[in-house]
Amino acid sequence: MLRKLKFQREADPQWARLVSERPGCEGLFSCLQCGACSGTCPLSSYMDYSPRRIVALVREGFRKDALSSKTIWLCASCYSCAVHCPRQIHITDIMYSLKREAIQYQLYPARFPVPVLAQEFCKMVRRRGRSSEFWLVLRMALRSNPLILFGMWRTGWQLMRAGRLSLRMDKIRDVGSLPRELAAREVS
Ligand code: SF4
Ligand code: SF4
Repeated sequence: MLRKLKFQREADPQWARLVSERPGCEGLFSCLQCGACSGTCPLSSYMDYSPRRIVALVREGFRKDALSSKTIWLCASCYSCAVHCPRQIHITDIMYSLKREAIQYQLYPARFPVPVLAQEFCKMVRRRGRSSEFWLVLRMALRSNPLILFGMWRTGWQLMRAGRLSLRMDKIRDVGSLPRELAAREVS
């Protein structure tokens, strides 16, 4: 169950400062807690913490709560919050920064498919230069919750019959040049 009570001793203000120094996160400490971001977010009713609360958690240094939340993975990067924020805080960039850290320290919610999908997508693109939807979804399900495949097989079958989903593993022609190209763009 989500614990709502927070204790000061659990907070890490140093971490909050580090987040605020990352590109796109500079406005963190100017948040007014007005709630405009949560009001405009199309997904806030599905989130465990609304965008306003995520900003509050990060700014106070509640690292584990913020990094292990489902909110950061449900964010669809629509930028509505950033557009409506009276302080022009780039909330979407804060979400991206939290996602990266959650993956780095494996703090994302257990058996939650979205972070697994992000990881598998990156792995596939790093290896082959392209993603293949069938294999991507299969790997995501096997690593998070295989039962979700039961709810997907009919749609998958229909997509295959319509020629919109293939079992083929796509790759770019010059796969050998990928590591060099990615390194040049500082993708790690
Ligand atoms: S809209 Fe901006 S100022 Fe208002 S709560 Fe959200 S982040 Fe803070
Ligand atoms: S960018 Fe994310 S947090 Fe902001 S409004 Fe869109 S879905 Fe909500």
